[in-house]
Amino acid sequence: MSYEELALLIDGRWTQGTSGKTETVVNPSTNEALGELPLASIADLDEALEASQKGFDVWRKTPAIQRQTIMEKTARLLEERMDVIAANLTREMGKPLKEARMELGAAIDVLRWYGEEGKRVYGRVVPSRITGMRQTVKKEPIGPVIAFVAWNFPAINVMRKVAGAIGAGCSITIKASEETPGTCIAIGRAFMDAGLPAGVLNIVFGDPATISSHLCASDIPRKLSFTGSVPIGKHLQKLAADKMMRCTMELGGHAPVLVFSDADIDAAVRNCVAGKYRNAGQVCVSPTRFLVQEAVYDKFATAFRDQASKLVVGDGLAEKTDMGPLIAERRIEVMENFMADALSNGSSLLTGGERLSNSGSFFAPTVLGDVTDDALIMNEEPFGPIAPISRFSTLDEAIERANRLPFGLAAYAFTKNAKTAAALSSEIQSGMLAINSLMVASAETPFGGIKDSGYGSEGSIEGMETFLTTRFVTEIF
Ligand code: NAD
Repeated sequence: MSYEELALLIDGRWTQGTSGKTETVVNPSTNEALGELPLASIADLDEALEASQKGFDVWRKTPAIQRQTIMEKTARLLEERMDVIAANLTREMGKPLKEARMELGAAIDVLRWYGEEGKRVYGRVVPSRITGMRQTVKKEPIGPVIAFVAWNFPAINVMRKVAGAIGAGCSITIKASEETPGTCIAIGRAFMDAGLPAGVLNIVFGDPATISSHLCASDIPRKLSFTGSVPIGKHLQKLAADKMMRCTMELGGHAPVLVFSDADIDAAVRNCVAGKYRNAGQVCVSPTRFLVQEAVYDKFATAFRDQASKLVVGDGLAEKTDMGPLIAERRIEVMENFMADALSNGSSLLTGGERLSNSGSFFAPTVLGDVTDDALIMNEEPFGPIAPISRFSTLDEAIERANRLPFGLAAYAFTKNAKTAAALSSEIQSGMLAINSLMVASAETPFGGIKDSGYGSEGSIEGMETFLTTRFVTEIF
């Protein structure tokens, strides 16, 4: 099976661009080259900007039901092409094939949801204080959107932005990750084959800083949407400020998991191991700080270690693989740094702790015990397969430690006590909180953070709202 044909999408045309420059896309399981990605020149970016204005002018006037018809057709094409797209997603990103298929399925779900919701973008009529006056509140697509997304979910990160914009009647120019471009291109091909007008979706790649500064300096985009790290999010927000561009920021997290002594520990461990090593821990809402109440600490840590050490690590295309590689060699060095710091701080190594092979970026599923809050891994987002476990004694201590970081994306807890659950529900500082499960993402619920983890939801009516602007019209007859 061949890898996706790599290209830019500008004004409805698939092109190699005019820069003559390319970047090699690498399979992180094998370090083999998958293809050469063309990089956009400044002239290509200008063409994409013009096209996105033209596309917006057409798309905003297209009835929502016609927009939804094209989105539904795109969803069906993606379903037909699922086997090929999922295999290529695994090859470029590394995650196990079953996870790639699930991700693509979730992306198609998001696409359908935004397509349907676009038909329900209602305004309202406000009763007037003056006889004969009509007051109308209108919801309109905000304008051409620019978007930048991380590599860890090559389908869903892209689709949350593209389907939201297109469902709301906006055009969008997206720069997906240069490390995982094939999935974004495959999504673009499905949209074009379904009849999306030229310019409504543009896909570019290149030097990220050059692209964002050029696109942000233009008067055309009216909204910037970003999925990535906190520092880059803060940088992009500053660039967007000069043009008063609205932003959505989906940034990093460091999710606490509070395990109380009254919890079903078997269920907690099962959920936490599955959640922690999904996508090799490269998930923004990954459970990353396990705080366990004294009385159940030993039981939890032992069962966690036993299950983590049984996971099969390997090429995501192999049927038995539970966990694939990290995205690239650079992430192995980050894991080794976390390990050295934690071990020198008195943590105990329960399992794993080292890279597994030199032919790909594989790192063992790792569990650290008795990790203190001054360890680096308890403060910086791990974004890898290391699970630090720590003890706590009281509810107040657990809440205080859960809230101590600048992040506020996801948080989790396991307890059977309704009073504890109620206290967590009101006191935990996170955009999303799941109690007795790790489920925080679906097409119809708001996904997003608070504090340094960003703002502006994706999915749900709140996600749709971020692509709309409110206008007020009064008329006297
Ligand atoms: P990163 O911020 O370095 O890169 C993310 C993306 O931004 C990449 O595609 C990169 O090409 C692009 N980028 C980098 N510099 C840019 C610039 N100056 N202008 C425009 N684009 C630029 O992050 P990373 O470490 O590669 O990715 C992981 C991060 O993403 C983690 O912090 C993770 O939590 C976060 N993330 C958040 C969510 C969410 O929904 N909250 C989802 C997925 C990932």
